[in-house]
Amino acid sequence: MNLSTIAREIRVCTRCNLHKGRQRTVPGEGPSWARVMLVGEAPGREEDIHGRPFVGRSGRMLDEILKKAGLGRDDLFITSVVKCRPPKNRVPRRSEWETCIQAHLRRQIDVIDPTIICLLGGVATKALLGKYRLSEQRGRVFRRERRSFFPTYHPAGAGRNRSWYRAFSEDMDKLHSLAQSK
Ligand code: SF4
Repeated sequence: MNLSTIAREIRVCTRCNLHKGRQRTVPGEGPSWARVMLVGEAPGREEDIHGRPFVGRSGRMLDEILKKAGLGRDDLFITSVVKCRPPKNRVPRRSEWETCIQAHLRRQIDVIDPTIICLLGGVATKALLGKYRLSEQRGRVFRRERRSFFPTYHPAGAGRNRSWYRAFSEDMDKLHSLAQSK
């Protein structure tokens, strides 16, 4: 099993209802040797058009903050808990993210075997860490087996709220330090 095989399976996946409204799937991108994975919530309009993660407005902001923190997209694997855009950008339902994680994200994590998984926003934090209060968990490191999980705000939320933006920038600085210490 490798990332290309998983991406091919995602492209034809009909395991949940989200496949009905998608233009393209967004399997994620980045090298198989990435030590850090970024996991967001779901593809949005631009991502659905291009089939690539975080290419819309929040993606541009993510790039800018990653760059300031000294992190490059080329060194990270970026994806989300569901690989198809929910209708009208609604929040993905538990049944959808459970299905997609089980079918695809778990295997992507197994192949990449990252040391740090940065969870972008409340849905990813709930889905992968079982934690429900992002305001209490953001910026903290949670150890699960061999990995560190690092929840922070979603870039879209950080783009709408100045204090979240500052917190998100600080978290990306911390993520850089964590990545260097592993
Ligand atoms: S969201 Fe995931 S599980 Fe649902 S159809 Fe798309 S790829 Fe399949």
